[in-house]
Amino acid sequence: MKSFQGITASSGIAIGPAFHFHRGDLYFERHTVTDPAAEWTRLKVALATARQQLTAVAARAKAESGKEEADIFEAHILMLEDPDLLETMQQAIKGQSLNAEAALQDATENYAQLLETLDDEYFGARAADVRDVATRVLRILLGVAESPTAGLLIPSIILARDLTPSDTVLLDKSLVLGFCTVEGGATSHTAILSRSLGLPAVVGTAPEVLEIPPGATLALDGGAGTLTLEPGEALIAAYRRRQTASATLLTQARKDAYAPASTRDGHRVEVVANIGNVAGVAAALEAGAEGVGLLRTEFLYLEQTHLPDEEEQYQAYRAIVEAFGSQPVILRTLDIGGDKGLPYLDLPHEMNPFLGFRAIRLCLARPEIFKPQLRAALRASVGGNLKIMFPMVATVAEVRAARTILEECRAELLAEGQPVAEEIEIGIMVEIPATAVLAERFATEVDFFSIGTNDLTQYTLAADRTNALVAALGSAFQPAVLHLVRNVITAAHAEGKWVGLCGELAGDPLAIPILLGLGLDEFSMNPPAIPLAKQIIRALTLEETQKLARAALALDDAEAVQELVKRRAPAVNL
Ligand code: PEP
Ligand code: MG
Repeated sequence: MKSFQGITASSGIAIGPAFHFHRGDLYFERHTVTDPAAEWTRLKVALATARQQLTAVAARAKAESGKEEADIFEAHILMLEDPDLLETMQQAIKGQSLNAEAALQDATENYAQLLETLDDEYFGARAADVRDVATRVLRILLGVAESPTAGLLIPSIILARDLTPSDTVLLDKSLVLGFCTVEGGATSHTAILSRSLGLPAVVGTAPEVLEIPPGATLALDGGAGTLTLEPGEALIAAYRRRQTASATLLTQARKDAYAPASTRDGHRVEVVANIGNVAGVAAALEAGAEGVGLLRTEFLYLEQTHLPDEEEQYQAYRAIVEAFGSQPVILRTLDIGGDKGLPYLDLPHEMNPFLGFRAIRLCLARPEIFKPQLRAALRASVGGNLKIMFPMVATVAEVRAARTILEECRAELLAEGQPVAEEIEIGIMVEIPATAVLAERFATEVDFFSIGTNDLTQYTLAADRTNALVAALGSAFQPAVLHLVRNVITAAHAEGKWVGLCGELAGDPLAIPILLGLGLDEFSMNPPAIPLAKQIIRALTLEETQKLARAALALDDAEAVQELVKRRAPAVNL
């Protein structure tokens, strides 16, 4: 028995075999070769292998999903046979003695970019296909397995150096018992995803976990942040008892999950869900969500190999809005960048992606991406209670620019005879200190704020949310973050606007009393956290939480704040 200590990312216990997730690095050196003829043969063999693979995939797709799916792979086969592409690659290898990987990448990338310059949705999708085929051939050349999850056949605990959101969407969740990664912090998107799936997760463990033999029995304790190798019968029995006890606690909380959340002295707040796709709706409704406080639309983009078009987005948004009837659904516009890369968007490499070209910055610069999303959202607003929210806003000018584009989209749709709801609340996420500090200016520009403490914390403390080494520093309980939260709530309320919070802090039992005391109106969290959050709110009075919040603001560090809540609001240990 050997234990590894990491950071708590999502509580709960999992016991099962180890499965290693290797992304399969497609890195190669560009170089010249001494035998170009042999290199050309190497590439031709790789192309033939890719052809064989694609023929098998097309046949399977035809049997399982029909002709349309199969046609995509037939088109991929045709690309492998394109005489111009073959000629260009042969010329690079035989004429310039370039290695096969570089010749392949140059030729296919040029071709993909050429297709993109045609500025047409159809050709844009073809460019993604060309890159997809090129990746397949590159994998063959480099001897990297086709899918990092190919061997995942039984429910397992996933071990990885790190997991990006686009990796995680590849995993068949019914075969995942829990996650354990070497990198990452408590608010990295992998941690958030595990929480939303209700799966235990530990991040920031020692790199030795990557040497654990595949299939070895593991016990993962998300709440304690530990992973135990070959735990032994006594520990497994103790874990099983805890699993039963927490299931009982949750069953109790679930009984009242559909009732509203009001404090003992009658102060009502809204408890809503963070979801990433249509599949999240059922979990949110079942948990007692009173709406959606954060629809992370980028997950719709991450689940695809091409940019979803307006119609695809409309269908998804419509389904979600309809499912919630008159309850609010806050659609956050595309928040790509940071730790959420979009493999097919081909964005420039950045030294500091969290401080770079992401979210609203990217959308304002790329209206061809932004406008289809806004049009889809506006169309989905009819008959429901849709609100639109812009992420990563840093300046008032950005809000105005985004609103102008939104109004353009509305005018276009109306001119086309497409209905749009008359009243749509527009809000922003407050996740950059600049915006929190000047909240009073923003309050006159929008209908609501939603505080994103995951990013607000990393920018306030200058502590990367995905870096395990600074995870303790990057705690949203830091008084500096709480002061910014108070500032935002005070500024909004002075203008008669409401404030939500959709960072991970909103669903943290220890944070709920403080946020209530600071005057937060809406708590948005991963669905599994909702029943307990409502139960905690019902056990408190507004007055006691106001006193607690005042005391918390006067403290020096995050640990002291957490200790204070444990002492003063024992109800949170329900
Ligand atoms: C946040 O930053 O708090 C937030 C909710 O957005 P995301 O976690 O998707 O960056
Ligand atoms: Mg954020």
